[in-house]
Amino acid sequence: MVFKYCAECGHKLDEIRLGDDDCKICPSCKRIYGNNPLPVVEVLVVNELNEILLLKQDYISKDKWTVVSGYMVNGETIEEAVAREVKEETGQTVTKCQYVSSYYFEPKQLIMIGFIAYVNKSDFADSDEVDDLKWYKVHEVESVIARENNCSGMHFDMCKKYLQENDGRE
Ligand SMILES: [Zn+2]
Repeated sequence: MVFKYCAECGHKLDEIRLGDDDCKICPSCKRIYGNNPLPVVEVLVVNELNEILLLKQDYISKDKWTVVSGYMVNGETIEEAVAREVKEETGQTVTKCQYVSSYYFEPKQLIMIGFIAYVNKSDFADSDEVDDLKWYKVHEVESVIARENNCSGMHFDMCKKYLQENDGRE
């Protein structure tokens, strides 16, 4: 996240070099701002029948479907964020999760931390953020997954490769 003004006092920030990093500093209250992305979890949800759960969020796309994703919250681990976002957006309980790959999403300066989460198929949650939810067979995903301006497609590719190389559930 790139700041131009101090979030504490509103002063315009100055450039400063700290160790090896280009940072910014508030000349008034001396708060330091690093040049850091916001961490987001990106989660492919898979059930015991090897079906993949995708979400429809109309503000992202009218016809394409995405994987679960969400901002991390202070105080939680990445694994806790994965379980929380999956629960909030879909109602499914994560029994196990596995890191697969990360992606840098330039338009919003996000570091997307990509996981597979295993669940046992259960009732969907009613989330205000989600317009529809659907289980897809692996071969059905390609024609519906969001790839434009969204990391869902790339994450699906990486997870498919991961699942071919490892039997995730064991
Ligand atoms: Zn300040």
